[in-house]
Amino acid sequence: MDPDLLARKARTLSDRLHACDLCPRMCGADRTKGERGVCGTDDRVIVASYGPHFGEEAPLVGSSGSGTVFFSGCSLQCVFCQNYDISHRLSGEVVDTSALAGIFLAVERMGCHNLNLVTPTHVTPQIVEALGIAASRGFSLPVVYNCGGYERVEMLKELEGIVDIYMPDLKFLDPAFAARYCDAADYPEVAREAIREMARQVGPLVLDRRGIAVRGLLVRHLVMPGGASTTEEVIDFLALEIGRDTYLNLMDQYRPCGTAVGFPEIAVRVSRKEWEDARAYAVRKGLSRLDGND
Ligand code: SF4
Repeated sequence: MDPDLLARKARTLSDRLHACDLCPRMCGADRTKGERGVCGTDDRVIVASYGPHFGEEAPLVGSSGSGTVFFSGCSLQCVFCQNYDISHRLSGEVVDTSALAGIFLAVERMGCHNLNLVTPTHVTPQIVEALGIAASRGFSLPVVYNCGGYERVEMLKELEGIVDIYMPDLKFLDPAFAARYCDAADYPEVAREAIREMARQVGPLVLDRRGIAVRGLLVRHLVMPGGASTTEEVIDFLALEIGRDTYLNLMDQYRPCGTAVGFPEIAVRVSRKEWEDARAYAVRKGLSRLDGND
């Protein structure tokens, strides 16, 4: 990565913080003056934690772990968020871009296989600036953009050549569910467009000889109880529009976190049968790269 190019891009992106339009909410908050949009943050970056993570997908974890950096705040604000303290309550420490660059470099020194930016959307300008500083000091890990799938294509285009691996969620493809659980009825269409753009930029997931991901798209889908995650529609979209070689992690760990207990239909864990049915459907539709089956 060219540090000068990153620095120039960061300056352009930072201008957007004056009337923020980084995510599809397009709140217009002047975050430089302390205003906060739906994501809950002004222009300061809050890091909840960082370091090697072994709970991510096998191609990211390898033998030395994925270098996760968890950013606090989130533009999607799902009621069932599995990281509620971080996304809604903004737990963590404020860091400036120089300190953030230091974190990126520390993750590389720890031997992690990649830099895994968790919930980066609302702090993209600061991340790009920090990547520029880190690159000038020799940082060279593949960059993973680990997001909720609620992304503007215009912003993703700004990240072309910076992000090596896109890892979006695809949560549900029904506007009514998206409105009920995230107050984002446009999520299905926005996420479809975003994943199409991610696939265009990086293509299917590519692994090196050790089985470590170096580039490409990895989609996550959390199977929810009672059909709330519209899993069959998600699988159809991936199989028919993105490609049967899309790497898909069909996750079985849904539990009612956050304020999900206030929504009876998702106030329970997903059953084993629901997840097995989802997996069987993905196999029937020809998705050949299900997590753990690569
Ligand atoms: S990133 Fe935050 S402030 Fe900016 S548009 Fe999205 S929700 Fe609003």
